[in-house]
Amino acid sequence: SDILVQVDHLTKYFHVKGMKGPGVQAVEDVSLFIKRGETLGLVGESGCGKTTLGRTILRLHEPTSGQIIYDGQTIYQHQYPFEPKTMQVREKGGASHEASVLVKKAVPKAKAVDMLPYRRKMQIIFQDPSASLDPRMTVGEIIGEALDIHKLCGSKQERTDRIKELLSMVGLNTEHANRYPHEFSGGQQQRVGIARALAVRPEFIVCDEPISALDVSIQSQVVNMLEDMQQELGLTYLFIAHDLSVVRHISNRIGVMYLGTLVELAESYELNRNPIHPYTKTLLSAVPVPDPEVSRSRQRIVLEGDIPSPMNPPSGCRFHTRCPYATEQCKQAVPQLKEHAPGHWAACHLLG
Ligand code: SF4
Repeated sequence: SDILVQVDHLTKYFHVKGMKGPGVQAVEDVSLFIKRGETLGLVGESGCGKTTLGRTILRLHEPTSGQIIYDGQTIYQHQYPFEPKTMQVREKGGASHEASVLVKKAVPKAKAVDMLPYRRKMQIIFQDPSASLDPRMTVGEIIGEALDIHKLCGSKQERTDRIKELLSMVGLNTEHANRYPHEFSGGQQQRVGIARALAVRPEFIVCDEPISALDVSIQSQVVNMLEDMQQELGLTYLFIAHDLSVVRHISNRIGVMYLGTLVELAESYELNRNPIHPYTKTLLSAVPVPDPEVSRSRQRIVLEGDIPSPMNPPSGCRFHTRCPYATEQCKQAVPQLKEHAPGHWAACHLLG
């Protein structure tokens, strides 16, 4: 199959101590697939759940429910453990009223899957390289540790050679192996992070905003390097960014998230030319477009209000509190992601 990663109805809630119910509803019912060798871009404002989704796919966060299939193997499957109940709730200091509340229900435990082989195949490159590299370890030790965990080198010599090879792959000097992370610039640290991810010969890499903590002047170098690596090693990327202008050049397809839900997904070109979800339209209106034909027809739309809290997300369409087209239906019914043109998916009642 040409699909490497498939996610069905994936949901991730973070339990909040002392709070009843599901807690922070960070990722809600997301379904998507990633083809072998492609880059799927994932965008949305901070707090929209894109990083949580990336980490949940890798099972760095244990999912709450849904299904994850990697290369044809189900690596996670669990029923949704909540049900809606109508209850009397009391607002702080206000009167009580009826509301639908999610209540935990008993479901069988998810089957345990040995993740070790997948931990090698699926890697992550973090946003902040300085925080993700252990300051007490040399660069050689950091990369060597990844090799050791998965027992990838038979001899000491092989290990040393592989570390040197990885450093030169990411454009660093092989003598850098004996230095510590703080001796490097942000861009060089990110190269070390990339070398560490590549050390274990992965197939799939979640690039979690890998350039947003870097100087603008070196961002494109790192992006180009990631693209070269993809070509050379046949990698598949989930590339997370808060800015469409970053992902649109490197992504084959782009998914847009809002408050934990996937609202639109299409080929990169199609999404840029013809966004159909109201939220994507506002996101795109904020990005400068070089094509005068497009920019003339595109007015900047500014959203009113802040993103609501994922602890208490709006009912129905989660975007309804800020959407200029919201109707009564939007407040009540959750719009499902549907294919409106070949490969172009969106979740909005307006589209039918
Ligand atoms: Fe707006 Fe309704 Fe569409 Fe949500 S479903 S984006 S509120 S029109």
